[in-house]
Amino acid sequence: MKIAICDPIDKKALEKLSSLGLDVKDLSSIDKTELVERVKDADILVVRSATKVKGELLDALESAKLIIRGGVGLDNIDIEGAEKKGIKVVNTPEASSVSVAELVFAHIFAIYRHVVRGTVGIKEGKWEKKALKGNEIFGKTIGIIGMGRIGREVAIRAKALGMTVLGYDVVDFPEEFAEKVSLDELYERSDIITLHVPLIPATKHMINKDSISKMKDGVVIINCSRGGIVDEVALYEALKDGKVKGVGLDVFEKEPPERSPLFELDNVTLTPHIGASTKEAQAKIGVEIVNKVKAFIEGKL
Ligand code: NAD
Repeated sequence: MKIAICDPIDKKALEKLSSLGLDVKDLSSIDKTELVERVKDADILVVRSATKVKGELLDALESAKLIIRGGVGLDNIDIEGAEKKGIKVVNTPEASSVSVAELVFAHIFAIYRHVVRGTVGIKEGKWEKKALKGNEIFGKTIGIIGMGRIGREVAIRAKALGMTVLGYDVVDFPEEFAEKVSLDELYERSDIITLHVPLIPATKHMINKDSISKMKDGVVIINCSRGGIVDEVALYEALKDGKVKGVGLDVFEKEPPERSPLFELDNVTLTPHIGASTKEAQAKIGVEIVNKVKAFIEGKL
């Protein structure tokens, strides 16, 4: 059985796949334009987010039965097109939840304590001790929109920090993670709002001028889910007039983002879609990929 690895995965996972007796083709370092020719006879395709399994690449697959997306979001795969060709598409949703949740707090701490401005200031020879008065996270209220895998990991950590935790989801979730509230109540009561929903028509620009107007003055908004869920223009305006005190973004409407006025403002923390980019998450993604392959071989997928 031939397996084409189109994007880099953990080394141990590669070794493990070879030890399963598979013909492993590591195509992760070749030019993406060459992939079309090289994946034709692959039975299984493994991709992360860089390889787009759509159009020409999807058409090129002659033998594929399975596509494994190492990671969560499936927006780089034409799922309907794959299914029409009889190809199953699976992801590794559990592996990165802790890493993403921890990044949420990296943004919150950095915003609440002006870590970025402090760093840049000192490097520029400024000692802004008086200007950088922050806030404690303890005792604040966090509103989590999307109480799935990552939302729950955020809730666990928020509670440990002494926060009041509110949760909103379109499906039910266990009360132990967060107080269940309506979206409007979450907007009204939260000091910090963090998004953990998929990008679908219902969530596109759900954080916009109207929803921001319902939030507390001085709210902090964190988006480590998908770009496009937050209207970046509305966010810029709300930050500029002080309604929103701080913003942390790991994801953008366009990635990499074009130069934006958001970048000029203080208390905006930005990371280049690194939610799952930890050694631990990559290793866990590798293990999940191997498990999916094993299950497929055994006819259990
Ligand atoms: P999940 O499927 O476990 O949870 C998503 C939750 O959102 C579900 O409980 C679902 O019911 C809920 N939801 C859907 N539509 C909603 C709506 N309109 N309003 C409120 N809730 C709604 O997914 P997850 O693993 O927790 O991932 C959450 C998000 O994080 C996804 O967008 C995923 O792509 C993203 N993600 C980002 C990174 C990163 O690198 N920054 C890494 C992994 C995942």
